Amino acid sequence: MRYALWLISLLLAGILIAACQSPKAPVIFEEKMMVMGTVVSVTIAGEEDKLSNKAFHDLLTDFKYMQAAWNPWKKGSLARVNQLLPMGPAFTIGPGIKDILERSRILAQKSDGLFNPAIGKLVKLWGFHQDEMPEGPPPSDAQIQKLLTSGLTLDALTVEGLSLVSRNPDITLDFGGFAKGYAVDKAIEHLQRLGIKNAIVNAGGDLRAIGSKGDKPWVIGIRNPRTEGIIASLRIKGDESVFTSGDYERFYDYKGNRYHHILDPRTGYPANETRSVTVVHGDAATADAAATALFVAGPKRWEEIAKKMAVSEVMLIDKAGKILISAALNARITFLDRKNLDITVSRLVHE
Ligand code: AMP
Ligand code: MG
Repeated sequence: MRYALWLISLLLAGILIAACQSPKAPVIFEEKMMVMGTVVSVTIAGEEDKLSNKAFHDLLTDFKYMQAAWNPWKKGSLARVNQLLPMGPAFTIGPGIKDILERSRILAQKSDGLFNPAIGKLVKLWGFHQDEMPEGPPPSDAQIQKLLTSGLTLDALTVEGLSLVSRNPDITLDFGGFAKGYAVDKAIEHLQRLGIKNAIVNAGGDLRAIGSKGDKPWVIGIRNPRTEGIIASLRIKGDESVFTSGDYERFYDYKGNRYHHILDPRTGYPANETRSVTVVHGDAATADAAATALFVAGPKRWEEIAKKMAVSEVMLIDKAGKILISAALNARITFLDRKNLDITVSRLVHE
């Protein structure tokens, strides 16, 4: 409930900033839906209500479909794949799953395996394959090591046409680190097909924006990982996605320790050097996967992995609250209280 309230306030924060009025403010359409475990808000500028309404209802149908297809713990296409994968023989998958699998395979390779959708069983073992927050206890080290030793990577899966086969019965798929971005891209593509040029699709604070709000850019808020407010705002340049991975999104406390949902595929434990990572990039799928990967990479490896994934606008807030930010993002972000923050700017080699 607290999370839901926070989400609504963040969505509002983004939109309120966006509402800093221009003299010729365009008509703004804004509607929300509850899908994929979060509040998705669709904002469209300067279109007739009839078109905006149609667009919103199309997206509602699409998001509901994608939510049913890609949820690892509810009956649907992905749950079926996860049931069949460990059995051994090759089986037929739908073209939708094939596409998301192939896209995520490329991103997983570029991330050096830190973004790894093959760790479904590990995410389940930690208790995160359910709608409710788990209460613990966390899994035993023996359980974790047993899963890790088999080598959980997408390399063990072979796709030929629509046939999928796995060489490792410990692999199941979890697209939680990437499906939201993939879905937001599909949503924006649909709006563009309808002729809409100025819009934001915001899924619980993660968003892709196109165009502008009349003669002003869209302005969005980036969440502070330790308060319920925002730490910075950003003016969007045309077509951009802003995705954040955080340790505050899904977690539980057990006997004084906090366990959150972003797992380090090398250790099998929640990645513990980072509070949040924000990535700004053209497409939402890449931004989403990169935010998850760079969260795992942590303060020591984020620059190297950002380079491999070809993302240049990144902000990482480490476990002590220190901000590490790429020069490209630092040049355009507006912190609410810059002088009281510990900020280190890094010039990524590929910028
Ligand atoms: P995000 O908020 O985009 O970082 O996604 C977190 C979700 O991705 C988790 O709830 C898991 O379902 C899944 N996940 C956790 N760790 C990883 C990882 N290292 N690589 C890919 N997906 C992950
Ligand atoms: Mg992600």
